[in-house]
Amino acid sequence: MTSAHDKGIVDVAVIGAGVVGSAIARLLSGHQLDVALIESRCDVGDGTSKANTAILHTGFDAKPETLESRLVARGYHLLKAYADETGIPYEPTGALLVAWDDEQLAALPGLQEKAEQNGYAGTEIVGPDEVYRQVPTLGPGALGGLTVPGESIICTWTTNLALATDAVRRGTRLLRSHRVESVTVGADETVLHTNRGDLRARWVINAAGLGSDVIDELFGHDRFHLHPAYGKVVCFCERVTEGEVRDALNSTIPPCDLDGLRRRTRAMNGRCQGFYCGANVTGMLQDTETEARR
Ligand SMILES: Cc1cc2nc3c(=O)[nH]c(=O)nc-3n(C[C@H](O)[C@H](O)[C@H](O)COP(=O)(O)OP(=O)(O)OC[C@H]3O[C@@H](n4cnc5c(N)ncnc54)[C@H](O)[C@@H]3O)c2cc1C
Repeated sequence: MTSAHDKGIVDVAVIGAGVVGSAIARLLSGHQLDVALIESRCDVGDGTSKANTAILHTGFDAKPETLESRLVARGYHLLKAYADETGIPYEPTGALLVAWDDEQLAALPGLQEKAEQNGYAGTEIVGPDEVYRQVPTLGPGALGGLTVPGESIICTWTTNLALATDAVRRGTRLLRSHRVESVTVGADETVLHTNRGDLRARWVINAAGLGSDVIDELFGHDRFHLHPAYGKVVCFCERVTEGEVRDALNSTIPPCDLDGLRRRTRAMNGRCQGFYCGANVTGMLQDTETEARR
């Protein structure tokens, strides 16, 4: 690994080696462009891309006719083909949306219609017998369901690593442990000032995930702000997010003490046994108790 200041000008600098930045770098470096992929952490795919639910979405439930619905549907086919080609593990588990009350049951035809508007025609509305045939261990009370056979789970870490590996093999210069801290925008080039030196680029792509609003600001814009509370990790040993803790505290049967919270979320259950996250988690529990007393 070399530092940024060893490099001359590149055609494109991609900030962020998550799944998005790595995929972009891979594509661009297949086009005779000199590409740099800049990552502040010491490894690729160490942000949100490695710690998500791992669903390879068909896009059946996206809001129709949005950019998101188009991209998710296209990404589904592209990533599936790429996984087959490269050996990224994925499992076509299918999904089953279960209706537990009349309101949810009545919503199923609308969901099916939405899926069709999104170009996914594989869903089927099924009765309770089929629901229990597919998932015999489900608790009692299911009234019906919607099957989505195309949904899969995919290894998030391998996906990111494969894309970044391909990018590097096609010539991308990967600069890890390089945090972009400021920028100087010129007429023909932009200088990215990192903690390990400068990098000059003709074009810059912002794929910094949860840090992308900060990068946007460095370029003098104020176009969007990210508030990643749900995904913010509280317990790093077990990778429990603030959102998961809050969901547990607001659940139907909320925990009454730290042990209960530990059982529900695994927070404080890892190697450090709460040494690092204990104070934060206790604070969240106390805030909820104070709120409840009001
Ligand atoms: C709880 C949760 C569950 C999810 N489940 C799913 C799911 O099941 N299926 C699905 O498709 N999507 C899911 N997602 C969404 C998905 O994880 C994200 O859309 C995706 O990982 C975003 O990738 P990214 O490359 O944009 O961001 P990231 O993976 O965060 O990558 C951005 C990178 O930029 C780097 N960076 C930031 N600032 C700088 C800087 N100044 N200089 C240099 N580098 C910088 C970061 O270190 C990071 O590595 C989920 C998200 C969450 C939070």
